[in-house]
Amino acid sequence: MPTNAELFARASRSIPGGVNSPVRAFRSVGGTPRFVARAQGPYFWDAEDKRYIDYIGSWGPAILGHAHPEVVRAVQEAAVHGLSYGAPTEAEIEIAEMLIARMPSIEQVRLVSSGTEATMTAIRLARGATGRNKIIKFEGCYHGHADSLLVKAGSGLLTFGNPTSAGVPPEFVAHTIVLDYNDIAGVKTAFAQHGKDIACIIVEPIAGNMNMIKPIAGFLETLRSECTAHGALLIFDEVMTGFRVGPQGVQGLTGIKPDITTLAKVIGGGMPIGAFGASAKIMSNIAPLGGVYQAGTLSGNPVAVAAGITTLKLLAKPGFYEDLSKRTRTLCDGLVERARAHKIPFSADCVGGMFGVYFSDKVPTTLAEVSASNIEMFKVFFHGMLDEGVYFAPSAYEAGFVSSTHDDSVIAATITAADKVFAKLNA
Ligand SMILES: *Cc1c(COP(=O)(O)O)cnc(C)c1O
Repeated sequence: MPTNAELFARASRSIPGGVNSPVRAFRSVGGTPRFVARAQGPYFWDAEDKRYIDYIGSWGPAILGHAHPEVVRAVQEAAVHGLSYGAPTEAEIEIAEMLIARMPSIEQVRLVSSGTEATMTAIRLARGATGRNKIIKFEGCYHGHADSLLVKAGSGLLTFGNPTSAGVPPEFVAHTIVLDYNDIAGVKTAFAQHGKDIACIIVEPIAGNMNMIKPIAGFLETLRSECTAHGALLIFDEVMTGFRVGPQGVQGLTGIKPDITTLAKVIGGGMPIGAFGASAKIMSNIAPLGGVYQAGTLSGNPVAVAAGITTLKLLAKPGFYEDLSKRTRTLCDGLVERARAHKIPFSADCVGGMFGVYFSDKVPTTLAEVSASNIEMFKVFFHGMLDEGVYFAPSAYEAGFVSSTHDDSVIAATITAADKVFAKLNA
């Protein structure tokens, strides 16, 4: 049986960095990535057959726990009938109708194969529909790896951004305005200066890619009112929050309706899927109806759609989100209580089945506050928990995820493990 270290060494010869997505490589916490052999419910087992309680859940999709029997059965049954056709199916209508029925702002939806594709197309759609070029994004929000979205703030207020990736020409991000999350004044200034050129704002309505950061009162409301006042479109990137924080995403929780919504992660139940949706009027700009081009060989893949439909059906069970929220709250409260007992500066916050843990006395509301938390202490905590068989995200800049299979005993075991790790941190 090869060890994790042996697999990592072998992987590093054939795959850059040994991984197929960078955060998996443990670069920001150090150490050896765990190679997953199998998973079930709240657990996965690594190559050395060590069991972990998993708080990543594939970065969100595993909201029903790993390998949910009904989802697995749906995948098996779909696979028997063929893996992909490149022609429409009835199941695609069914999942479209489910998404439309549940997401307040969506009248029509198109399926793609990833969150990146969904956000990339949402931006193109907003530009095509408005005939404008500039977009606003917020530093620390992640919207996948499309060129114009791989950008951080330039120095000084309201400069256009700088690419955060090699291989992205500055010209490609020249139309991207980067602002601070929760900076209401910054949004107003940007619209005052560039209002007639701004096609859209794209935002994670609860941020989950700079640890978890909630919008402050008035932030999303301001985005909505500024977009409406200036004829720009508001894009809620609910790739992470959709069906994760509640049955209708953040738009259901807040009552604020975006013009365009992007989805992925949970709606595929672990299979590769993404979607973008809007009013029928906005969606009429998409090919073959309109001039905004978008396509995909595997879009609406029948096996992924089967997993998605079954997942969405199971999420509609009465009380699902109340129960999930309660479990997540119990976890956060328990961690905070144990940290306090050991005098560790620590806070936690959650919404639905998503949470953040921070080595700081108070819950951050900005990226700068996340960066100012005790990241060194997080690293020690992360490895301590890993030793205890609990797998948190391998970065202080990521959120965590609870599934419906994280029952009372799993959460209690997590808090007991954290108690030991906090005690060591204190010593
Ligand atoms: C994960 C994520 C994406 C990218 O989705 P992929 O499926 O990884 O391409 C985009 N936006 C948000 C908010 C995400 O969390």
